[in-house]
Amino acid sequence: MQRFSLIGLHVLFVLAALVGNGQASPLAQGPVKAVATLPDIADLVREIGGDRVEVKAICKGTENVHAVRLKPSHVVMTSRCEAFFQVGLSLEHAWVPGLIKTSRNRKIQAGQPGLVTVSEGMTVLEKPASLSRKEGADIHPEGNPHVNLAHGAGRHMAARIRDSLVELRPKHKAEFEARFKAFEAKSKAAEIRWTKLAAQLKDKKVIVYHSEFNYLLEDLGLEVLATIEPKPGVPPTPGHLAKVIQIARKHPKAVVLTAAWSNNRAVDRVVDTCECCKLVLASMAVKEQSWLDSMEDIHRSLANAFEVAYPSDEASDEEGAVPTEETP
Ligand SMILES: [Zn+2]
Repeated sequence: MQRFSLIGLHVLFVLAALVGNGQASPLAQGPVKAVATLPDIADLVREIGGDRVEVKAICKGTENVHAVRLKPSHVVMTSRCEAFFQVGLSLEHAWVPGLIKTSRNRKIQAGQPGLVTVSEGMTVLEKPASLSRKEGADIHPEGNPHVNLAHGAGRHMAARIRDSLVELRPKHKAEFEARFKAFEAKSKAAEIRWTKLAAQLKDKKVIVYHSEFNYLLEDLGLEVLATIEPKPGVPPTPGHLAKVIQIARKHPKAVVLTAAWSNNRAVDRVVDTCECCKLVLASMAVKEQSWLDSMEDIHRSLANAFEVAYPSDEASDEEGAVPTEETP
């Protein structure tokens, strides 16, 4: 785990003290000033909050979300916000707890309505049997935290955001509810498209570097043949890499999935010794991109990599392919 993200936070504390501790006047009922860890969450906060929120994301969408390099501006915005939205499940555990502590913002400390964990209530994959470091549990101690790529994750995260905004601005409840319904409809239409793509990807196989795509892969029914990291956050040994290469050689039509921030020298060593193609996928929305557009791009990239046609918009008008509950 990288430690640099916390180094310097004590120095940044001075900045937090200078800008106050986020305690606005009780009469202030303007837009909810919010901070989100991921661009995906920031987009959904905008979707549900509209003009009633002003939200900034900390991640750009191209970095390793387990080890984000914080800047003084992140401390300043966190110290001034009324709501802080995180994925949770320890996805951001290397940098969010220190950031919140350093901000000295009482509204977003643990147990306060301003600290919102959008993964709450989701079904979690890969919960470790023990918290031993041998399990790689220092990176994914509560199970796989990369829930933002599940097909139903947008609706689930949006519902958590709606509930928190209603709590912070109860007089705008009807507006938040209406915005949620509109987003829910858009997401369900997209999910039908993605489910149709899943039918075409049935029995296709992938090899992954890190396990950040596993919710998506499960929803698409893609089989994970091997993970290049032997444990989350642990680089491959030569022996492990040799095993992955053996598997890759037996499955020349498999696609090797990786992220831009991964150890792509190891990925290239696999790809260079077999016929599999490599696909660099985003593991979250990038900058101002919406969660839906990001997911759409990811699905189109997978369709291209496996050389299958992407389902048309007309196909998404058909009924019955998407579950109605909010949990993915
Ligand atoms: Zn991870």
